[in-house]
Amino acid sequence: YAAKHDGRGPVMYAPELDVHTHRRLALAAELRTAIRERRIGVAYQPKVRLSDDVVVGAEALARWNHPEMGQIGPDEFIPIAEETGLIRELTTHVLHRAIEDAQVWHARGHLISVAVNISARSVIDQDFPAHLTDLLRTTGIAPHLLTLEVTESSMMTDREQAVANLTAIAALGVELSIDDFGTGFSSMAYLKRLPLDEIKIDQGFIRTMLVDESDAVIVRSILDLAHNLGMSTVAEGVEDTATSDALLALGCGVAQGYLWSRPVSASALLQLLVHEDRSVVPVSAARPVAI
Ligand code: C2E
Ligand code: MG
Ligand code: MG
Ligand code: MG
Repeated sequence: YAAKHDGRGPVMYAPELDVHTHRRLALAAELRTAIRERRIGVAYQPKVRLSDDVVVGAEALARWNHPEMGQIGPDEFIPIAEETGLIRELTTHVLHRAIEDAQVWHARGHLISVAVNISARSVIDQDFPAHLTDLLRTTGIAPHLLTLEVTESSMMTDREQAVANLTAIAALGVELSIDDFGTGFSSMAYLKRLPLDEIKIDQGFIRTMLVDESDAVIVRSILDLAHNLGMSTVAEGVEDTATSDALLALGCGVAQGYLWSRPVSASALLQLLVHEDRSVVPVSAARPVAI
């Protein structure tokens, strides 16, 4: 398998492909244990309301802290989890962690929503809605404080099952968000059948919207579409104030990006909330001061 052929000369050996395959096999072998031993962590990136910079939610992003290989990103291990049949376990793990962490923020008076990315496999997994129902019951989280982010492309392998699952999930009161919007190929007729609450504009358009007129047009069109369908809007990957100003002027409601914060630990996110929220009196300030 580690060979490639350019169609002209002899079969060439490709060592770089071999290294890649080795790493993949090694990670696949370790992933199960990593999930069971809770070595898959979750980082949180705030979702910020553009009109006043208030944090209205946080997105859970999975992180694998590997003892030898360092931090491994979800773009690498999520596909492995899908291929090895571990995705259900991983999704459950991340959902549990995210709900647990959000409940700590909620207990401190910060009623923000937590968003979890749901992989393609889970979106069309027949058992997923029932599974989610159990999770809501056992954790007791208010469903409207949980958002599931699904990508357009995740629904394409089985559109009917996706509609059925998302309809069942929306009926639970859980919010649904369509992630990386604009990069898939779903038709308007199909989108109309999905009970979506939020559209997230892919960062590829956001990054270049100030320099590329066609990307600006796409961003404006997505915002129009979302607003006309009664959905809220989130811009991903905002890194500078010129872009956030432009998005605010275009009527985009919420944004995420390094401009405000990189993904941080659950406790760092709480610090951020405590710091910004002046309506919540910190415990230390409420204590009587000895004179
Ligand atoms: P996504 O859901 O679209 O998440 C946004 C990605 O962009 C995250 O990368 C985030 O760290 C990064 N990002 C945020 N703001 C900025 C910015 O201003 N500039 C730049 N350059 N990047 C920014 P991350 O954490 O590596 O996640 C990549 C993808 O992996 C996610 O894309 C999501 O599709 C998937 N993913 C992450 N966690 C999970 C999970 O628990 N389950 C599943 N199924 N997928 C996950
Ligand atoms: Mg996402
Ligand atoms: Mg809803
Ligand atoms: Mg995205």
